[in-house]
Amino acid sequence: MINQQLINFNKINSHYFGIALITIFILLENTINILSQDIDTQSYIEEDKKEFNYKRKPWKGNNAFLYDYLHSISYFGNEDKIRYLVPIHFWIYSDKDGNGAASLSDIKKYIDELNYYNKLNKTGFRFYLSNIKEISKTRRKIMGYYIEAPLQGIFRRMSNVINVHIIDNFKLLKNERRVVRASYSYISKSIVMRKVNSTTSLAHEIGHYFGLLHPHRNYNKGKNKQEPVSRTRTKNSRNKIPLCELRGDYLSDTPAEPKLSFLVDNDCKFVGNTITDSWGDNYKSHTNNIMSYPAHYYCRYHFTTGQIAVMLYTSASYNTSKYWSTDYKNNLKFSFDNSEPNDYFEMASNLKSDTVYSLNFHKIFVKKRRIKTDTCDWYKVELKNDTSQTNSQLNIRISVNFNKNNSNNILVDLFDKNRIKLNAIKIKKDNSLTLEYKNLVEDWYYIKVSQIENKKNDIINKYNLLIINN
Ligand SMILES: [Zn+2]
Repeated sequence: MINQQLINFNKINSHYFGIALITIFILLENTINILSQDIDTQSYIEEDKKEFNYKRKPWKGNNAFLYDYLHSISYFGNEDKIRYLVPIHFWIYSDKDGNGAASLSDIKKYIDELNYYNKLNKTGFRFYLSNIKEISKTRRKIMGYYIEAPLQGIFRRMSNVINVHIIDNFKLLKNERRVVRASYSYISKSIVMRKVNSTTSLAHEIGHYFGLLHPHRNYNKGKNKQEPVSRTRTKNSRNKIPLCELRGDYLSDTPAEPKLSFLVDNDCKFVGNTITDSWGDNYKSHTNNIMSYPAHYYCRYHFTTGQIAVMLYTSASYNTSKYWSTDYKNNLKFSFDNSEPNDYFEMASNLKSDTVYSLNFHKIFVKKRRIKTDTCDWYKVELKNDTSQTNSQLNIRISVNFNKNNSNNILVDLFDKNRIKLNAIKIKKDNSLTLEYKNLVEDWYYIKVSQIENKKNDIINKYNLLIINN
């Protein structure tokens, strides 16, 4: 009897459970519909996708495609335009004593270098810090190159950002002597990088992330796979497609390369001119390409036009790219200042006194619905005495004006180099804060501008900062 009741009870339960499940699905579907309405499906990038097939690599054997693509996005004539603001999430590995493999100033250096080479080559990309996650109490500071590094990239991964793991060193096979500075996994799309690397290491790995291959790819695989030196050589007389677009990195504007490790002198000159390809043509390789492996990494600084096109096209093919696109409707109202990354004391960016700086709290677009906001900026300024004055005491005034009448939500403070907060006379108005400091000595000082995050629309996103030294 009791058993029968239990059975009935279970039946009823499963019946209700079924109804509940269906209800949840209906609710979920509605929620998804509501969410998808929020996504701008007619964005600039979506429009583009109709014309270009982003699923394959259409420039293989047809490099003209890349130039058509650059024309379609009006690249020529607007080479300096920032097209994508790409967030980077750093994973920092430290040992059990909490000794970090990379410091905050190391991370600023990585992003600054990455932005330097992208700006230099007019790639249209600008990168910023999304977040830093420290993985402590781990032995993974030294990471196995072949298995451990790719696996970490799969297990520790944030979506809609580029994941960069910073370790002390790679563990290679016992008899391997090569130096590995960084690696990119095509499966997890993650980068694992040694703390000590070259100034172009991150730009190189992110080149892979955006679809670039090594120009020397298959150089040692014989006549059937090697890229020829000649730009017009085809497989046979019937074939019209040049092999340089089918082999190597598929790009005709990156010359064929042998192994450059021993073929570049200290002045970055290619010294392998006597070496020939499988057809007997002498190599005339460049040594400056960021995707190459020259003997000296200081020789690397260049991306070719073909490479820039591949990166921009590949970026547009990624689902998350519209959140990074500066043309995306929701991003238009936000600007991005050149002082980023400056989220921490250790990352403070340089300012000069008597100059008005136009700055902002930028937005971090990483998810469909949620927009993470940058709420803290650090700056540093070196205060010096006017040489004509004998008085060693300095008085300064810091003025900050905001684009919203919301000074209650904003904090501005000055710190000395030991991070001790200094006392100020503060004058607060609806849309400005003025801080006066007296009797300072010559030194570096740090300014922190932060705001209390709120969900309302009155978040301050732009401000002007002026330091007057008097
Ligand atoms: Zn590489």
